[in-house]
Amino acid sequence: MDNFEKLVKKSIDKFKMLNKDEKILVSVSGGKDSHAAAYVLNKLGYNIELFHINLGIKNFSDISLEKVKELSNILEVPLHIVNLKDITGKTIEDLKRKHCSICGITKRYLMNKFGYENNFDVIVTGHNLDDEVSFLLNNLLNWSVRYLAKHFPVLPAHDKFLKKVKIFYEIEEDLILKYAVKNNIPFTTAKCKFAKDAITLKHRAYLNELEKERKNIKKQFLYGYLKYRHLFDIEEDFQFRECEICGMTSAGKICSFCRVWKLYKKSKYKN
Ligand code: SF4
Ligand code: ZN
Repeated sequence: MDNFEKLVKKSIDKFKMLNKDEKILVSVSGGKDSHAAAYVLNKLGYNIELFHINLGIKNFSDISLEKVKELSNILEVPLHIVNLKDITGKTIEDLKRKHCSICGITKRYLMNKFGYENNFDVIVTGHNLDDEVSFLLNNLLNWSVRYLAKHFPVLPAHDKFLKKVKIFYEIEEDLILKYAVKNNIPFTTAKCKFAKDAITLKHRAYLNELEKERKNIKKQFLYGYLKYRHLFDIEEDFQFRECEICGMTSAGKICSFCRVWKLYKKSKYKN
């Protein structure tokens, strides 16, 4: 086991993230983080399968799919692919606005639904320390208190939501990149054309600038949050229920996914 793998194992143990008897679905995007997550979990002996969503973004989705298939071949683990267009009749490309926020809702929903319907115990994503601190900053800037309590590496299962785990929660992006390159893990560096609009990428850029002057500021921010996150732990003022269109767990009558893709227009709901 090399130093990076030891670091990941230590983090998994520290936060009691995963068990060897769990059936794990790793959400892979084509990029280095999720591919390194699948690779290291496979190496550490966890029972994993891969899940990928074809978002239908020109060029970017094609190259991502190619890399995901390469990874599945190397690891010799099953790969499940879902095409957004088959489900919604549209792609991310067809949206007029809010590409990233709708894309985020879509990815979270589809991986959870697939995992739930196929008896997986847990979903693993490749989010790393740099992602976490930029999400955290964004939620602080917006005072999204409901979300501020949820920046934890393990979110427990409830209703039809599976347990979700971020194995790289404490791991910096550059370490993951070095590990991916060292082990010849296939991944693409292609950037989605909508990435420029993502505010969290802007947060990430100035947090990196700050890190040059204040070493370890990102870790300090993250560990400070872990110490004080209980302050944001508020009681939800609603009850989860089943979405009236798709039946998955929802905070309202219709879940965010069915709402943003206007699936009620195709359902009996409005008739
Ligand atoms: Fe989706 Fe935005 Fe990421 Fe593109 S940059 S894949 S639209 S979240
Ligand atoms: Zn729904």
